[in-house]
Amino acid sequence: MVYTDKCPVLSNTEWRDNCQFPVIHKGETPSDWMKRIWDQLTNYKNNNRLTDDKKRYLIARKMEYLYEGDLGHSVGINIAICYSCNKLVYSKIGSGYEYWFPHFMDEHWSTNCTGNAYCDISHKDYMELKSKSEANSYFEKEAIRRYELWVQNAIKKLECAREVGKKIRAVKVIQQKWLEIFYKPEGMCATQLVEHYKLLWAVREEMRQINNAQLI
Ligand SMILES: [Zn+2]
Repeated sequence: MVYTDKCPVLSNTEWRDNCQFPVIHKGETPSDWMKRIWDQLTNYKNNNRLTDDKKRYLIARKMEYLYEGDLGHSVGINIAICYSCNKLVYSKIGSGYEYWFPHFMDEHWSTNCTGNAYCDISHKDYMELKSKSEANSYFEKEAIRRYELWVQNAIKKLECAREVGKKIRAVKVIQQKWLEIFYKPEGMCATQLVEHYKLLWAVREEMRQINNAQLI
């Protein structure tokens, strides 16, 4: 899919499916929902049969009934499927307020999305779109925005990798120091030794947390 793919003309069945994909059934967990619709959703996605708001992610909806016998209406909730990382995304923002939904995915794409399919232009395309003399179309603006979110995400990942690298080096230095002190203790008093220990464990704990966060 490219950003220039416009909204397709859908058949009645395709339109109905587009309306039903987001609805989590009663008693279903988000993972059950994702499993149930996944194959059909992928098929629709690959054949450009999804409405524009569902092309890159799918915000979950649940049915609400206002009175007995009400046919119900669906409301958006703070769970989505991201097609870039093929994972369920949970967000604190977005629940119940449809206006916030684009921000919901912006937050995911600019921080912890592990895929990059949401960004569908290259740096060269980006520079060309930015330097166009006439105003950018809606689709071009959206492509520019997603490219910029991807840049933010990439920078954060790089910084995180650098941080981990720095911490690994720091642990090695501390371990080395500790060994030196252990075998030649007269150079340092006991309280200093304890401080070094504490520092070592604090760094280890931080590294463990960073590694866990990257696995999510
Ligand atoms: Zn993602």
